[in-house]
Amino acid sequence: MSAVFVPVPDEMLVGGKWRQADGPKTRVLDPATGAVLQEISQSCADDVDEAVARGAEAAADPGWRDLLPHQRARYLHAIADAVEAAADSLATLQSFNTGKALRETRALVASAVGTFRYFAAVLETSDEAKTTSRGEYLTWVKQEPIGVIGAIAPWNSPIASDAQKIAPALAAGNAVVLKPAEWTPLVSLALARLIVDSGLPAGLLSVLPGRGSVVGDAIVRHPGIGKVSFTGGTDTGRGIAHLAAEKLMPVSLELGGKSPTMVLDDADVEQAIAGVMYGIFSSSGQSCIAGSRLFVAESLYDDFLDRLVERTRQLVVGNGFDDATHVGPLVHPKHRDSVAAYVDLARAEGGTVRCGGGVPDDPRLADGAYYLPTIIDGLANSARVCQEEIFGPVLLALPFRDEDDLVAQANDSVFGLASGIWTRDYRRALRLADRIQAGTVWINTYKAFSISTPFGGIKESGLDTEKGREGIAAYSRAKGVYLGMSDTPHPWAPRTPRVDTAG
Ligand code: NAP
Repeated sequence: MSAVFVPVPDEMLVGGKWRQADGPKTRVLDPATGAVLQEISQSCADDVDEAVARGAEAAADPGWRDLLPHQRARYLHAIADAVEAAADSLATLQSFNTGKALRETRALVASAVGTFRYFAAVLETSDEAKTTSRGEYLTWVKQEPIGVIGAIAPWNSPIASDAQKIAPALAAGNAVVLKPAEWTPLVSLALARLIVDSGLPAGLLSVLPGRGSVVGDAIVRHPGIGKVSFTGGTDTGRGIAHLAAEKLMPVSLELGGKSPTMVLDDADVEQAIAGVMYGIFSSSGQSCIAGSRLFVAESLYDDFLDRLVERTRQLVVGNGFDDATHVGPLVHPKHRDSVAAYVDLARAEGGTVRCGGGVPDDPRLADGAYYLPTIIDGLANSARVCQEEIFGPVLLALPFRDEDDLVAQANDSVFGLASGIWTRDYRRALRLADRIQAGTVWINTYKAFSISTPFGGIKESGLDTEKGREGIAAYSRAKGVYLGMSDTPHPWAPRTPRVDTAG
């Protein structure tokens, strides 16, 4: 554990200029120790005005606007190279600021590199097809940039969520104004420094740390923002959707989840136990796709749960920089308190805490925002803790009778983000995959991710998808172009005989 925190040199990037914001300072914490890592000043609505104005100029500059797709791809490749070269320092920075295990933050940085490369490759291979004509004209669709994109990110995986927004938005030819979460601005600032230094024209990216209710709100309301791409909680997303409706502005919303993991009676139990634990306890459960509701076949339930509880007790809770750590701290003491309050609620609702249910008693962890991996059973799916997103290392376990009962319980949720199925019978798996209401279904795996597969939620888990080749179209406007090919006089043209002047 020899990692050393290196403060980021920058506080805010506005329209190509680095400077300090005038707002109050946020104390950015190391959740593993409670230490203040750095203080970052908060931006304000005036900074949003400036960032949007400079972004609009930069996006309209012919030097950017008129680039062909393969030329824009070069900028994305340069960013990917820069992020890859700085992978160690970015992963370390993110582990300091979020508490995540270093092996997880390394994977997140690698995924960010992959995201920039993927969208560069999409640009390199993009084609525009003529659309089918219904008359004497040629038609085709032109994808045009929207202008300035507002990107609002949560605190749980900053570099991955930043890249998922910045890469396709730039690939489509836009400028981006990014607001990182107040608790985790450091990685976004470090990423922005790499992007600027890699040669992206000034003004195309601004990064404005600050409060959601101030900076985020100003971005959403700003008339110069043509689209908002938001990842965060469902209530915040709903508020943004209301404001967007007033402006008739498109929004992408990647929101919360309460995803079911389903263990059928013929599952490979060892694999399922490992997958269930990884699905809920990696990232300390602070993952939108966490498998936070576990449904186990009645015939297997008692034995499966006993073994799962025993294995969960063996998970190592500790500092993310320790190689042995499975479960790091939560992102912030306030968030840890909110998770603890949910476990208290589960007890009050009549649930049985089978393991965890409190902070670790290891004195070395006393100052950090730790919470033990927790498994609760004995509650119905209608209990509040089974319905609301806890966003922490808390798993609710429930038995199911048969496939219909499983589908009814799993789908009895306002959310529809992800799901997992553990069975050896692929016919049952595929039948369930059809019936489960979720944007992603994992079968005999969990939290596997590919940038080429679109990702998004249904129901209150979101609107629209990210990733995949269509990821660029989400940041573009389609324009139909018609080219008349007919020599026949238009019916409204004067009926004068045509004079043949040839020869
Ligand atoms: P959050 O409270 O909704 O905040 C998300 C972002 O929105 C933050 O940058 C926040 O700023 C900002 N914000 C807050 N109020 C705002 C407002 N009125 N207008 C504009 N922006 C505003 O969510 P969180 O607690 O950071 O993140 C956890 C949530 O994100 C969970 O629900 C999780 O499921 C969801 N999530 C979803 C996905 C997905 O892909 N579906 C991925 C990751 C996370 P401040 O924090 O600075 O106030």
